[in-house]
Amino acid sequence: MSVKKYVYLFEEGRADMKNLLGGKGANLAEMTNIGLPVPPGLIITTEACKEFYACDKKFPPGMEEQVREYIKVLEDKTGKRFGDPQNPLLVSVRSGAPISMPGMMDTVLNLGLNDATVQGLAATSGDDRFALDCYRRFLNMFGDVVLGIEHHKFERILEHAKQRKQVDYDNQLTAEDWQVVVEEYKKLIERETGEPFPQAPMEQLFRAIYAVFNSWNNDRAIVYRKINKIPDDLGTAVNVQVMVFGNLGNDCGTGVAFTRNPSTGENVLYGEYLINAQGEDVVAGIRTPQPIATLQQEMPAVYEQFVQTCQLLEKHYRNMQDIEFTIERGKLYMLQTRTGKRTAQAAIKIAVDMVQEGLISKEEAVLRVEPAQLDQLLHRRIDPKASLEVIAKGLPASPGAASGQVVFDADEAERLGKQGEKLILVRMETTPDDIHGIVAAQGILTSRGGMTSHAAVVARGMGKPCVCGCEALRIDYEREEFVVGQLVVKKGDIISIDGASGQVMLGQVPMIDPEISPEFQQLLSWADEIRAMGVRANADTPEDAAKAREFGAEGIGLTRTEHMFMAQDRLPIVQQMILAATPEERAQALDKLLPMQEGDFYGILKAMAGLPVTIRLLDPPLHEFLPNAEELAVEITRLRLTGGAEKEVRAKEDLLRKVRALSEFNPMLGHRGCRLGITFPEVYAMQARAIFQATARLVQEGVEVIPEVEIPLVIDVNELRLLKEMVSQVAAEVMEQFGVKFEYTVGTMIEVPRAALLADEVAREAEFFSFGTNDLTQTTLGFSRDDAEGKFMNDYLEKKILPENPFVVLDRKGVGKLMRMAVELGRQTRPDLLVGICGEHGGEPSSVEFCYEIGLNYVSCSPFRVPIARLAAAQATVKYGRR
Ligand code: ADP
Ligand code: MG
Ligand code: MG
Repeated sequence: MSVKKYVYLFEEGRADMKNLLGGKGANLAEMTNIGLPVPPGLIITTEACKEFYACDKKFPPGMEEQVREYIKVLEDKTGKRFGDPQNPLLVSVRSGAPISMPGMMDTVLNLGLNDATVQGLAATSGDDRFALDCYRRFLNMFGDVVLGIEHHKFERILEHAKQRKQVDYDNQLTAEDWQVVVEEYKKLIERETGEPFPQAPMEQLFRAIYAVFNSWNNDRAIVYRKINKIPDDLGTAVNVQVMVFGNLGNDCGTGVAFTRNPSTGENVLYGEYLINAQGEDVVAGIRTPQPIATLQQEMPAVYEQFVQTCQLLEKHYRNMQDIEFTIERGKLYMLQTRTGKRTAQAAIKIAVDMVQEGLISKEEAVLRVEPAQLDQLLHRRIDPKASLEVIAKGLPASPGAASGQVVFDADEAERLGKQGEKLILVRMETTPDDIHGIVAAQGILTSRGGMTSHAAVVARGMGKPCVCGCEALRIDYEREEFVVGQLVVKKGDIISIDGASGQVMLGQVPMIDPEISPEFQQLLSWADEIRAMGVRANADTPEDAAKAREFGAEGIGLTRTEHMFMAQDRLPIVQQMILAATPEERAQALDKLLPMQEGDFYGILKAMAGLPVTIRLLDPPLHEFLPNAEELAVEITRLRLTGGAEKEVRAKEDLLRKVRALSEFNPMLGHRGCRLGITFPEVYAMQARAIFQATARLVQEGVEVIPEVEIPLVIDVNELRLLKEMVSQVAAEVMEQFGVKFEYTVGTMIEVPRAALLADEVAREAEFFSFGTNDLTQTTLGFSRDDAEGKFMNDYLEKKILPENPFVVLDRKGVGKLMRMAVELGRQTRPDLLVGICGEHGGEPSSVEFCYEIGLNYVSCSPFRVPIARLAAAQATVKYGRR
């Protein structure tokens, strides 16, 4: 039986083999094959990892032999031998999943060192100190990552060594000092594991490979996958790569760089490096690194080569790259490249610039920006006119502003976050173990680490404001406070940070609404050219309508009229209408409401001149407009006890009776929507009259208006027939009365399954459909959003019963099936039926995509989400083609 190929040399791979070789491996392979200086290496496939899990955490048959065979190839390439005491081969063992999971699984460097080979390394490098430095790093990494010994135990030994010598930095220790540390590390390992440190390189290698596979399922990897919706069954590849050394002296170094600024998108090389350092030193925030530009002075030739390499990689991948490199004795090596994570602002600028540079097409540019990311730009920022009391300044690591209470611990941040507190997580530096705290916080502030530190990278990925390397902060975790100058800031104090400037302020600062940058406008105008589905907004006031227009809405998909009833000056009249004992009394109240509603509609229709406006007639159950029964009962008792006027008490009692009479067992499924219109036709008639009188006035003023009257919660065409007749009757009366003609349509919301099932019949009367997916989701799933999210939705997501919260991301499988059917049935009856969506889903990118797929004419969402919907609609058009 032939065994599978589990191991690939870098030469054997390509960038498009990410699923098999992992992102890191595939890109190392690609760089190797385009001739870049990459230290040789091999990749163990994700397939091997999957089989490792399938066969009870054992390496699949054949894998080990293949690894041994390929190690020989690396030996031949380098002329070094694994375990050779004269000239030892050393490797790094690096995890690499198909989707990059930054900092989730740690790398082991310098593998292959032991008591014998460390001497060979010392001899070949001519540097004892260097060899021992590598060995102690290896013992620490292997002990921590592979053997699971807590990192701080190694740290403690190192700290002691530094104290003994009274020095501050690692690089001040001598070979002798490192020899002592090495011995103590080995003792620590033996003490902790009950076995001596494994000296044999092959054993080290296989244990490291095992640890990488195993780390696929460690807690922080699982959390990261969950947050980023990465499937759990992809598995990780393992990269075994020949070591190069950035810590061999002052002509060496290691660094990371982005080919463009990942924060602003500006087309300048952006990165950091450290001289005489290895691996993670740059990102770990141990020393604060130098900006890449100074490399130009320090090592001009290397810098030149690096700049050219970056340009080549950008051209090759046609995207901004995030690169790791090491310089060994003046020679440049590339250790990683991947598509760089970026803020929304940078994503937009880079996409637009790359179109202008002729690197990508407009369609690609539109696909390059994650619509959900735009949210970041549609958020508030610090008012530039505000005078700020800046207490410290760090690096502007991730833009946006945030205010919140200071919290020093990730667990505590998580706990407080759940209680709805606004928080700023303050740490010396963050590690992957702090992820849950970063998720819970509004912003991150660290005292150490650069623009590429863990905190900065993660915050940018999540679109959270972050200020890094704020060295003026002296943080004391024990006392739960930090000190800047004379100022002591304690846990729970409010601070604000501005991730665009790096400023830290005491207290809450004034913020302003976002505006759309020229690049953002450009991208959106390309999106508009491309997309084949309309985008409207949900708006209940002329102000919202104007805002929506500004953001590019092409009409209103939902105007709710109940909000208009809730206004202070109207509620008493609405209550009078509801409580009316006789039709005359009700008519009186309605007469008072009519001019008010007419004014509302006039304003909205005018703000949307030339564009359609869907106005929904009254929808919620009437008791929502009445006082709460319990409170009323308490009030009556209080009046009684304090000897209130009999008349007043009577009136309140009457009211309470009425409130009780109107109370329902299940208001969501009770007397609401068009059921109100059926029982109280005069209410709907008043609303229709208000709409049409506003229309008539605007027509007289020469304004083009397109009202669409919408009947909510329809279950049967018969409801619609009755109500449409009435609406048309009112329209005819108003036209007569004003002596003008105007166009209007009458349609319905589709928000209960029966309406979707009978959509062909409903479409006989309805001139348009609008999916009210909030209610349609509730009625299809049979539970209310509030109850579900408050009580069990988390369990459903955790146990993967549902893939997503259906109130956030449209449930394509269930609700979507009803929608698809309703569109088809509706258009069978009425081929030109206008169909849209007005639920919250109308602004959620994946739901927007689905709406396009099933043939909707438009989506409608809240004004601030309109740009998101425009972009998402364009992406759907690129994906599914024009119709
Ligand atoms: P991560 O995914 O956390 O970035 P990496 O595998 O990229 O982990 O490696 C961690 C650090 O070690 C990086 O700085 C990387 O450049 C460095 N590194 C990895 N392999 C080698 C190697 N063969 N020689 C020198 N440095 C290496
Ligand atoms: Mg890396
Ligand atoms: Mg509804």
